[in-house]
Amino acid sequence: MTAHRVHAPGASPKLTETDLFRLRFLGAAREVTGSRYLLETHHSTVLLECGLGQAGGRARQSVPGRWGLPPEQIDAVVLTHAHIDHTGMLPRLVADGYRGPVYATPGTEDLLGVLLPDAAWIQEHEAQRTNRRLQRQGRPLVEPLYTLEDARRALGRVRSHPVDERVRVTGDVTVRFRHTGHILGAASIEVWVRDEVHHRRFVLSGDIGRTDAALLRPPDPLPTADFVVMESTYGDREHRSMEDTLREFRGILDDADARGENVLIPVFAVGRAQEILYHLRRFEQEGSIRPRPVFLDSPMAIDATELHQRNRACFSDELRELIGSGEDPFRPQQLELTRTAEESMAINDRRGVVVLAGSGMCQGGRIMHHLKHHLWRPGTHVVIVGFQARGTTGRALVDGAKMVKIRGQRIAVKAEIHTLGGFSAHADRSGLLDWLDGFHDAPPVVLVHGEPDAQDALAEAIVARGPRSVSIPERGDVLVVPRSGDAFRHASARS
Ligand SMILES: [Zn+2]
Repeated sequence: MTAHRVHAPGASPKLTETDLFRLRFLGAAREVTGSRYLLETHHSTVLLECGLGQAGGRARQSVPGRWGLPPEQIDAVVLTHAHIDHTGMLPRLVADGYRGPVYATPGTEDLLGVLLPDAAWIQEHEAQRTNRRLQRQGRPLVEPLYTLEDARRALGRVRSHPVDERVRVTGDVTVRFRHTGHILGAASIEVWVRDEVHHRRFVLSGDIGRTDAALLRPPDPLPTADFVVMESTYGDREHRSMEDTLREFRGILDDADARGENVLIPVFAVGRAQEILYHLRRFEQEGSIRPRPVFLDSPMAIDATELHQRNRACFSDELRELIGSGEDPFRPQQLELTRTAEESMAINDRRGVVVLAGSGMCQGGRIMHHLKHHLWRPGTHVVIVGFQARGTTGRALVDGAKMVKIRGQRIAVKAEIHTLGGFSAHADRSGLLDWLDGFHDAPPVVLVHGEPDAQDALAEAIVARGPRSVSIPERGDVLVVPRSGDAFRHASARS
């Protein structure tokens, strides 16, 4: 039993007569984005996840190995959840010739209707910007990775199926979605592959949510699998407890209220925005904060909030009860929804208010003009509630920058910057280990969707709890699953 990469020297990644299927890791291998795994049997091919990766691999022209085979040869696509790093290449896949169905939960289908057109808008916008530069340099222009029209065509291929229902996606592959918390509609996928005599079942975890999440029901227990393909984003980290996080948040709101100053919260439109609204409303109900105007300043977040109300099956018992009694859990008393740019600009003159606006990492979006008008004011509170990638304005604020550049202007940072890490939608290291403990018989584990440090630390922790095989594929690696006997062979793309 080893926690290290399993090299299988000489193992052929080709399917032989004794093999049932193979799994190719096209993305999210030793990294957190671009989730794409190709399942190939003797009779059919299913793409699990269709995520967009970091910069690079974004060119519109076809990239060898992007899909592992011509898209028209893929029979079905199955998605765990709507986040773009799991779905953002769908429009490109369809534009490249994919004509089959895309299976997802109803919540995921709803969110895709908001997120994919937005992703397409960003792609078109980025290409326009690049082209203005290229044009000035007299160089050939680029095309966007995909367009709004491509996104619409991709959405037309989505077929939603409820959680817990078995769906036969090809002649020999059946899947079932199981709740996994994380975001609205998010699921783990149980996958059965069968021939006339044998069958194997594995679980693709998707992004694993928290058991102490306020809105969503905790991940469903999954007792059996021949092996588990599991995310490892926070494999080396524990989150601050929700209780501590909420206490700190209340303290910030009290202070801003006492001084009549604003609280600015950069949010992702899906998930975090709704969670913050929920806590604000609950604080008001409990009487632990004084009600004040709260602006949800993001058309996409407003749409996403409406979709949350439609997908109650994903929520915790408490929240379902609340909605059942006619309450709106996402509506603080003085909530104002601002859709137009004019309404958004008008907030600049208000004091003593809370503003939720995108983008979540302060890279563009309406939060930028709020920051420009308030960052220099001592007394303003900026509350960071999500992950901030390197190189973003959000990260600079978290790291204590004294000056940031916003829309070409240098703005002094006199506001108080708070980082509340406890709102993460991902299970932390303990949460991941607990999720894995839910399986009987310690199935072999394949770690995906994590940076190397997080993956190595998690692999070590898993093995420390008892003998079990853990492997960590690199991009291009293949797991070959025989019809019987050992769960799989792992063939490195490099050997
Ligand atoms: Zn996710």
